[in-house]
Amino acid sequence: MDAVVTILIAIGAVGLIVQALVGLNFFVTCIWEKERRASVFAGLQFLGMGALLVIYVLLIWNGFFRTTLGLAILIAGYVLVVSGAIVVLRRTAPNPRALQGSKGLIVGEVKRQDERAIVFARNRSLRIDSEQYKTFYMQYREYEEYDKRRRQLGGPLGHPGVIDKPHEGPNVAATLASASIPTHLSTPGAFNPRPHPELKGKKYEVSPEEATERAKGYARNRGADLVGITEVNPLWIYSHRGEIFHNNWEDWGKEIKAEHKYAIVFATEMSFEMVGTGPHSPTMIESMGNYAQGAYIATQLAHFIANLGYSAIACHLRHYEGLMVPLAVDAGLGELGRLGYLITKELGPRVRLGAVMTDLPLIPDKPVDIGVEDFCRICKKCAVCCPSNSIPVVKDQTVANGSLRWKLNDETCFEYWGKIGTDCNICMRVCPWSHARTFPHKIIVELITRNKSARRLFSIMDDIFYGKKPKVKAIPKWARFSKRSKQ
Ligand code: SF4
Ligand code: SF4
Repeated sequence: MDAVVTILIAIGAVGLIVQALVGLNFFVTCIWEKERRASVFAGLQFLGMGALLVIYVLLIWNGFFRTTLGLAILIAGYVLVVSGAIVVLRRTAPNPRALQGSKGLIVGEVKRQDERAIVFARNRSLRIDSEQYKTFYMQYREYEEYDKRRRQLGGPLGHPGVIDKPHEGPNVAATLASASIPTHLSTPGAFNPRPHPELKGKKYEVSPEEATERAKGYARNRGADLVGITEVNPLWIYSHRGEIFHNNWEDWGKEIKAEHKYAIVFATEMSFEMVGTGPHSPTMIESMGNYAQGAYIATQLAHFIANLGYSAIACHLRHYEGLMVPLAVDAGLGELGRLGYLITKELGPRVRLGAVMTDLPLIPDKPVDIGVEDFCRICKKCAVCCPSNSIPVVKDQTVANGSLRWKLNDETCFEYWGKIGTDCNICMRVCPWSHARTFPHKIIVELITRNKSARRLFSIMDDIFYGKKPKVKAIPKWARFSKRSKQ
């Protein structure tokens, strides 16, 4: 009996040492993340854990656990810890909808999206008084007045009085520098390369296994952080072309055919530090920098595939064939979150997406269930923090265009971008999935992806440690606001 009690006491001591070390690690990472509020709470938590350890050692020293009362308390502690562990560690029932990918969310008729009606295409491509302008607003009258107002707000070089003006000049310059890359890569020869002439119409014979390994490996080698493959669901391909660059107006309104069987979808990580500054201008540098990186990866991957003799179309900021998020969901990169972005297990919503459509034979990945739908039902932080109330706060998804989702109001969101002169990103910054993947956060993500109770627990903990409305993080020195403004 004595030996059993000794073992129980020793295991208890080891457990308390481990939890104190995890607490210390969390405290240190909160300081590293420059999270003031979380550092205070993590510090208090660590002190509490340390105090518990000291009390435990003193009780061992006094032989307390060898008394009847001490043993009863020790056993009660074990029961409490073991039952708590079972509650948050076991794998709870999967979400069958998530495991079906975007198909799992379809509950009615889905109409293919016309790219001409997308908020960016309307405001970016259409030239006032052009034929296309008249044609478009004849068909979509509801947007005309709204778009007129939105155009007056402008982009990052827009009207004075926006969020960081007049001191953000260098940050706008950096943003526009990155924005030039996708534009350079949006000519038809760049996004839809012809097979190499030396192939003379032949194709490399390559098995789906090898092609998959090479395509994914090359995308990662070029800088993609996550890569997945899906068979293309034609519902997510645009019905008509609407975004025009290089004056290629004969393409405007052209029907887009879903010709390729596969999509290789990839994600690049957005810096935790830069996203943390949203809605200020450094977050805009990060968004555009990622779009530039995505264009660079997608273009090279499309050329690689074309050089094997297969058809390939690069999808990036200045040339999309369809909607990236449902394709990424189907390619197993993550799930659709309340904020309208893809949420990945590895990086949360802190990613930008790109893709290549191709007929290269490939092996598709399977959609994943990482608990996003359930977590978003509880959390709502992005909706509460959204300054333009563009994210629905209702508990459950509603039906929009035949699909279940929390329908983002992209009109009011885009209008807000025009008012502040940046791409905001507050929703991405405050999302609990966006935390840097330090050791404690990796453990938390593991738990919330597998267990419903852990989702409830850590959603509350996130509010306590980071606040219901988390504060903007410090701006990196190199992207600080300039004292001098444009003359
Ligand atoms: S980007 Fe800003 S305005 Fe748009 S949905 Fe997110 S928080 Fe709201
Ligand atoms: S902030 Fe919360 S509700 Fe919004 S996407 Fe992230 S997890 Fe979901």
